[in-house]
Amino acid sequence: MATLRFKALEYATNRQAVPVSRPAEKISDYFGVNVFGKKAMQEYLPADVYKQLSHAIETGSKIDESVAEAVAAGMKSWAMGKGATHYTHWFQPLTGATAEKHDAFFEPDGDKALEKFKGSALVQQEPDASSFPNGGIRNTFEARGYTAWDPSSPAFIIETHSGKTLCIPTIFVSYTGEALDHKTPLLKALAAVDKAAVAVCEYFDRDVTRVSATLGAEQEYFLVDKALFSARPDLIMSGRTVFGHSPAKGQQLEDHYFGSIPPRVHNFMLDFETEVLKLGIPIRTRHNEVAPGQFECAPSFSEINLAIDHNQLLMDVMNRVADRHNLRVLFHEKPFAGINGSGKHNNWSLITNTGKNLLSPGKRPKDNLLFLTFFVNTIMAVYEHADLLRASIASAGNDHRLGANEAPPAIISAFLGSQLSAVLDSLEKDTSLIEKGDNMYLKLGIDKIPEILLDNTDRNRTSPFAFTGNKFEFRAVGSSANSALPMAVLNTIVAAQLEAFKTEVDALIEKGTKKEVAIITVIKEYIKVSKNIRFEGNGYSDEWVEEAAKRGLSNVKTTPVALDAYVSEKSRALFQAHGIFGERELEARHEIYLEEYIKKVQIESRVMGDLAMNHVIPTAVAYQNKLIVNVKGLKDLGLGEEHTQSTLETIKEISTHITAIKTKVDAMTEARKVANNIAHSRERAIAYCDDVKAYFDVIRYHVDKLELLVDDEDWPLVKYRELLFLK
Ligand code: ADP
Ligand code: MG
Repeated sequence: MATLRFKALEYATNRQAVPVSRPAEKISDYFGVNVFGKKAMQEYLPADVYKQLSHAIETGSKIDESVAEAVAAGMKSWAMGKGATHYTHWFQPLTGATAEKHDAFFEPDGDKALEKFKGSALVQQEPDASSFPNGGIRNTFEARGYTAWDPSSPAFIIETHSGKTLCIPTIFVSYTGEALDHKTPLLKALAAVDKAAVAVCEYFDRDVTRVSATLGAEQEYFLVDKALFSARPDLIMSGRTVFGHSPAKGQQLEDHYFGSIPPRVHNFMLDFETEVLKLGIPIRTRHNEVAPGQFECAPSFSEINLAIDHNQLLMDVMNRVADRHNLRVLFHEKPFAGINGSGKHNNWSLITNTGKNLLSPGKRPKDNLLFLTFFVNTIMAVYEHADLLRASIASAGNDHRLGANEAPPAIISAFLGSQLSAVLDSLEKDTSLIEKGDNMYLKLGIDKIPEILLDNTDRNRTSPFAFTGNKFEFRAVGSSANSALPMAVLNTIVAAQLEAFKTEVDALIEKGTKKEVAIITVIKEYIKVSKNIRFEGNGYSDEWVEEAAKRGLSNVKTTPVALDAYVSEKSRALFQAHGIFGERELEARHEIYLEEYIKKVQIESRVMGDLAMNHVIPTAVAYQNKLIVNVKGLKDLGLGEEHTQSTLETIKEISTHITAIKTKVDAMTEARKVANNIAHSRERAIAYCDDVKAYFDVIRYHVDKLELLVDDEDWPLVKYRELLFLK
């Protein structure tokens, strides 16, 4: 095994940056060339078809058959003109990856061949989907799922070694109509928040007819050399290193952050950026992250459904392009112990069809009331449904990251910044009665909320949900996650909150209260009620854990328990009232997420057992034998205890660690057997968490100690210092 490590190191050391070239000088020359977007549609669709399609996209209305037929024909000509030979419905099943099933445009027709793509093939497909997770919704005998075209996300062409394929974004539902994917509930949640927000906007501006939720997802990731990756079975199997002693130099110097990007990495970035820009993904920033080997990229924000398709696509492209650069991308939340993990900060806001960002304070006092309305309702929603937000980011990977003194804690709280905290505090304390003729804004002190709140000194990087001037940043989302889930939850809870708000305000208006006064009255009440969710201090500190407990905030540290929030009475009622998930869909999802958790921990546990027993212990024993021979030799030479003592100590130390590892791995295997026999998935997941995973740290401790004792020449696993510092 050590041979593999040294071979891999030789490869890695000799790597050069792979040259890349951009297709044109200006990005605008190739941005979106592989997307069937507005420009391509105008060129390839008859004018009336283009108009009808655009209208349907804007309003979410149905597309009739003849339009679909014409769109399919246009799409086919466009795609074939670009060299595509196949098409596929592209969807996001609950596996966490994206799925495709390619069909050729080509169809045999007698002894001729025709290139065909019918409207019906664009609109709907029936992939045999029995191997996708369904949480018991679909029996295998009715293994058909349907994919249905989502015209709001444009089709695109993917180029791989096997050729070019036209990809059509779709939803994925069961035979009986239940969602089997991430997109379906997201689209429903976006429709719900649109409706609720428009209704509230009517108090302020009747021109608002549509509110879109926006997302800018910052993507963190690690890069490791391909050969080194291949020499770490734990990375291959579980995406993270289960063993590895911290290197002498970790991230304590923080010299990697915003440092210069290593040449190999730089070329990889240029290369994948080019690919995603061609796919219309507005990627903008790139930089090193805090930990060695860690990087980040972010696109400009867009409407959420599109932003999430883009993020999924981005991750696919990054994986593919990395291969060309002899690199592997690690999207896992915590690939390495002892240094930072990775997140996917979800920057979120609401923007009207009139171009107004509802979470951005405006110039006029009236705009500030509009801003405060959406701002306070969002905080109230987070307060009301903190547990559900926590559930939406729960995963085995993220459990390693949340609360690990470097990432947002598992306690959900909201950070507002000092200026806005002061505004809310003074509103809360204000008891003035608004009289007719008063300038309400002046009296309440909300006439002068500064228009520009962005102030980098006032950033809280320890908050899971932080206001950053004109948007909220949901920082607790894991780097490997599909943001559709947290975004479906966030938009649903905000929709529900806005509806409740409207009901209360309307009731006051009905009783004769002036509209603005009614709004401010309800806002003031919300500020009081939701106060406990606000936290401006250091979210990584122990004091916060104590303080949060005093405030009665939840601190759910592990996934199996966090997932309970999906199926609580409150969540069921919420999801059903807004048509996001039916009873069966919720149960199914709960089941799927539990199963996923169990499988992940199970795989890690097996990898750990295998590496410990078959790689680490034999290596340690072999090295120990060398030492024994050495001691015997010294004794044979007649050398006394003072010469053999230290080696004997090492021999004993090695024995202690070997014994501990063997005992703990055996016990862990037993715990796994017991857990596997638990029928109920929630209890099984908890057993995996409490009884199986509990051995991880202690086994690791002893293995990492052996890493320090055993001759470097013999050690089988690529070490952290070798993995983390790319050229
Ligand atoms: P940071 O200081 O957190 O890196 P940036 O200004 O770089 O802040 O923005 C981070 C992300 O937030 C980017 O993807 C950006 O497009 C996105 N963003 C900015 N404004 C909005 C908005 N109104 N809605 C959603 N995302 C936004
Ligand atoms: Mg950020």
